[in-house]
Amino acid sequence: MPDSVINLLLLTGAFAAMEGVAILSHKYVMHGFLWCWHESHHSPRQGIFEKNDLFAAIFALPSIAMIYLGTNGNPRLLWIGIGIALYGLAYFVFHDVIVHRRIRTRYKPKSGYMGRIVRAHWIHHATRTKAGAISFGFLYSRPVDVLLSERKRPQHRTPPRESTPSQP
Ligand SMILES: [Zn+2]
Ligand SMILES: [Zn+2]
Repeated sequence: MPDSVINLLLLTGAFAAMEGVAILSHKYVMHGFLWCWHESHHSPRQGIFEKNDLFAAIFALPSIAMIYLGTNGNPRLLWIGIGIALYGLAYFVFHDVIVHRRIRTRYKPKSGYMGRIVRAHWIHHATRTKAGAISFGFLYSRPVDVLLSERKRPQHRTPPRESTPSQP
């Protein structure tokens, strides 16, 4: 197989794998033990930055490491590093610019793939709590009607704030 094809496969593979990594970390880390950082993203933003931005800095580290190793003796790793960096860029444009409008844009996706992933992310934001959220993907989502029907299921309803404890 020619080198260029292997490099392209490494790049696209790393890009695609990062969506899997992002989904799992969003579900189990951000809505898990690091909810103390992610909570800022499920609340109205105070100022330009939010604590949740720390994740972007952490996710940049493997990309920097791979690009460094790739330019210092392991050329294959460079393509993995570029794939991770391109995912970070796509994530930023989709999540921070198109969905959350942190940079002003007139672009409004309504239908097709973009419309679907934007709606899917707003479905995720319908929950402001650590538990009960659905739709953890960014560049991938299940169909919106599937997500909406999942949200209606009782286990995904946010529990009432003041529930009367049942007396024995
Ligand atoms: Zn979240
Ligand atoms: Zn978001």
